[in-house]
Amino acid sequence: MSESGRPPVDVAVIGAGLTGLAIAREAARAGARVVVFEAEGLPRRPFEAGWVTAQCDADEHDATSSLRLAGRSLFFDWVAAVESESGHRVPRREGGTLVPALTLPELEVVHDRASWQRHRRLGFETLTGGSTRDRQPGLADELVAALHLREDRAVDADALHAALLVSAAAAGVELHLASPVFRLVTQGRAVSGVQVNEGQILAGVTVIAAGVSSGGFGLPPVPIVPKRELVAVLGLGRAFTHGLWHDRFRVSPLPDGRVFITGPLEAVGFDRRVPAGRLAKLLNETFHLAPSLGDLPLLTAGCVLRATTPDGRPMLGSTDAQSLIYATGFADHGLPLAPIAAKLLVEYMQTGNPSLDWSAFDPRRFSQ
Ligand SMILES: Cc1cc2nc3c(=O)[nH]c(=O)nc-3n(C[C@H](O)[C@H](O)[C@H](O)COP(=O)(O)OP(=O)(O)OC[C@H]3O[C@@H](n4cnc5c(N)ncnc54)[C@H](O)[C@@H]3O)c2cc1C
Repeated sequence: MSESGRPPVDVAVIGAGLTGLAIAREAARAGARVVVFEAEGLPRRPFEAGWVTAQCDADEHDATSSLRLAGRSLFFDWVAAVESESGHRVPRREGGTLVPALTLPELEVVHDRASWQRHRRLGFETLTGGSTRDRQPGLADELVAALHLREDRAVDADALHAALLVSAAAAGVELHLASPVFRLVTQGRAVSGVQVNEGQILAGVTVIAAGVSSGGFGLPPVPIVPKRELVAVLGLGRAFTHGLWHDRFRVSPLPDGRVFITGPLEAVGFDRRVPAGRLAKLLNETFHLAPSLGDLPLLTAGCVLRATTPDGRPMLGSTDAQSLIYATGFADHGLPLAPIAAKLLVEYMQTGNPSLDWSAFDPRRFSQ
């Protein structure tokens, strides 16, 4: 029995973001008693573009790209299951993603990507500038070519998060909102639970899925690097049906007509300010390719911090401290990675053997 008088649970999850909830739901469906602690009242993701990307910036030899592809192949069936368990609909944008080339060097990058993706039999189409504009009107004349990736689609991430809260609860997960975890409870080298407002909660396994705050539990110290992403949200953009993925800017239209424009990740610590000049540059570069977006109303702008690691790979799996698991460092790939992370972690908890080689994501790589 814990100090709070509660019997121990099987799994305690820190963080009710997409990752924590996906893991909690999967573990509860596998029969575990699961409790989730979330620092915020009702965590919302107002700046989440909802993009499920696995091909647009994938690298042939990168382990994270393979994990993202595996995650995307599960993602839409997983969303359908969450919809049916929760009774909440999660709108999708089906148009896929265009990777545009505006210059000859950019065209080379597009050709390189097409070449290995063809080899791996990943679905895509190579379009000329003209046929890209036919598919997505409103793009600039100087567009040379584009890759069209039909499988890199998007969902309304806010709706998905709300549905996942309901489906996790329906699976038996006990959710504690506005209940921050202050520290881990330890016994020797083992983590035996978490300390929250109501006291100590003992757990067989503790999972840290606390996004950019995941490095703050100190056991062992893990290097989570926060990176800032600028976001501008436009409205009335229903004519825009395809995502655009460029190194310097990204455009993700949602089914409700909002269009998210986001910039590349920047390492500025925990600074959440929005530099006006950076935002103006991001919008200018975007409107250069997609001038028609410049006529849409700006609804809001802001920035978000994403959890990354020094080598850019997620942190997924157990640590030197017994009974402690990390699921973080998902950067801007949290959507496709949520269902695959949940699947692998629950397989690991049940059998000690995940069905996919996850050694590249071992959190212990930073303590060696
Ligand atoms: C603006 C934005 C747009 C994005 N767009 C996309 C996209 O289009 N496609 C994509 O794949 N990914 C996208 N992502 C990334 C993706 O959302 C993240 O990788 C993913 O949300 C990470 O989820 P998470 O659950 O790991 O972390 P988070 O969503 O950060 O959740 C962590 C949770 O832990 C809680 N927490 C922190 N400390 C504590 C504590 N001590 N006790 C209890 N709770 C705590 C936090 O309050 C938070 O709710 C986007 C992210 C942002 C921010």
